[in-house]
Amino acid sequence: MVDLQTQYQNIKEQVDNNIQEVINTGAFINGPFVKRFAIELAIYNNVHHVVPCANGTDALQLAMMALGLKPGDEVLVPVHTYVATAEVIALLQLEPVFVDVDPELFTIDVTQLEDKVTPKTKAIVPVHLYGQCADMESIMKFAKKHDIYVIEDTAQAIGADYTFSDGTEVKAGTIGHIGCTSFFPSKNLGCFGDGGAMLINDDELAKKAQMIASHGQSVKYHHDVVGCNSRLDTIQAGVLLAKLPHLDTYNANRAYVAKIYNRAFAEVPQIKTPKRADYSTHVFHQYTLIVDGVDRDALKDKLQEKGVPSMIYYPVPLHFQKAYVKEEFGEGSFPVTESLSKSVLSLPIHTEMKEEQQQYIIQSVLSSIEELS
Ligand SMILES: *Cc1c(COP(=O)(O)O)cnc(C)c1O
Repeated sequence: MVDLQTQYQNIKEQVDNNIQEVINTGAFINGPFVKRFAIELAIYNNVHHVVPCANGTDALQLAMMALGLKPGDEVLVPVHTYVATAEVIALLQLEPVFVDVDPELFTIDVTQLEDKVTPKTKAIVPVHLYGQCADMESIMKFAKKHDIYVIEDTAQAIGADYTFSDGTEVKAGTIGHIGCTSFFPSKNLGCFGDGGAMLINDDELAKKAQMIASHGQSVKYHHDVVGCNSRLDTIQAGVLLAKLPHLDTYNANRAYVAKIYNRAFAEVPQIKTPKRADYSTHVFHQYTLIVDGVDRDALKDKLQEKGVPSMIYYPVPLHFQKAYVKEEFGEGSFPVTESLSKSVLSLPIHTEMKEEQQQYIIQSVLSSIEELS
């Protein structure tokens, strides 16, 4: 699905130098690269603060803690997302309130939000799924009206641009109160292990998030609030510092691969290429088709036989997961998400895709559909 080895080979010297420097100096925890990376990433995103942490899931948890969400508070969250988004809500004894998604854009369906609001609603977590922003203008308007917090899950959309109707352009993850991202190796900006960060404009909130990520510590050995231990390793920060200058090129490479796929599949009635929102660029963390007219799982198997990997994000909707199921949930509770779980298929997309590789994938998809039709 990705080619991290070739990507590494192309920036090997800088990555190796940074890693070696961490080893030479022994500054494994909170070394200078961590602060430098936070500053560089803040500049890149045009946001006041970046608070690094151990992974994207922690970023979401720390964000909810920093915003002071309390047990019993309800948090709106799309039901078609990676489990982490809902998991931290439940872990903090908040109440995840699932919302179905737009059938073509895959992001939270803003037309359903009003129906989900109760006096207990305290926050919403839009997910910029597959690399394209949710409808943030509507979400911010909704959040302001109900005086609730907005935590953007931008783990899949780092570097995407959002354009408001007045023409203002901002980076994904800098619109709500806190943006949470992940540096998991296969993400658009990935390190060589786990890593994550929060993007925060408000000074006080950033200070609080930083404190909570560091054992609730204001001054060493003085603990003002209950916190966690969630840090970005200096080695990972060194890797990310080497990669960040290439992020725009990486995202452009992905967009190019998507364009070639779009063109190749435009006239194929059995597959629907990803729909684009007019308010967001797409950084194509995933290139996700909707398969309609042939059996999705059979297509996946056929591709596998031809040596082409593909993935289903996500095969079991959250409301059918044992950990999150509720008595009132059943078939049809979230019809769009249920339908997507049976029809989406993501093809390989990455920064190093070679033309002949992609042509092989395209031909395999076309011939497999032919065989199944
Ligand atoms: C990857 C991802 C996360 C979690 O990131 P980790 O670093 O793996 O904890 C959260 N939300 C979404 C949408 C993701 O894709």
